[in-house]
Amino acid sequence: MKKIPQIGCACEKPTPNYTEYRSSELGIDQTNGRHAEVTIQQCKLCQRIWIRYFVEFEHITKSGRWYKGIVTKKDRGQITPENAVEFLESLEWYVYGGSFFESTGTFGQGKLNVDG
Ligand SMILES: [Zn+2]
Repeated sequence: MKKIPQIGCACEKPTPNYTEYRSSELGIDQTNGRHAEVTIQQCKLCQRIWIRYFVEFEHITKSGRWYKGIVTKKDRGQITPENAVEFLESLEWYVYGGSFFESTGTFGQGKLNVDG
């Protein structure tokens, strides 16, 4: 398992006011009909790169949830929308939140809850 230092940057504990990042679309993961949005975010404060996985089920209220984990520049090219979940699950820790968890972001690890 890869060691990822926690440095106390705002990107690790994002509040609704945290906007200090650049975002670019990686694509949509259609696994199990999820239509999950996978984006790359680079924090402007610490320059680290995050993979963010967001899924929401339109017919279920408070189903929105996202997970994001740090990726090295070297690994970034290997990540696709389809393997993003597996990548996040392999990390020592990630940050997750959303209406489903009633959270703006907290640390987690292990299995992602992305199928409703
Ligand atoms: Zn940061």
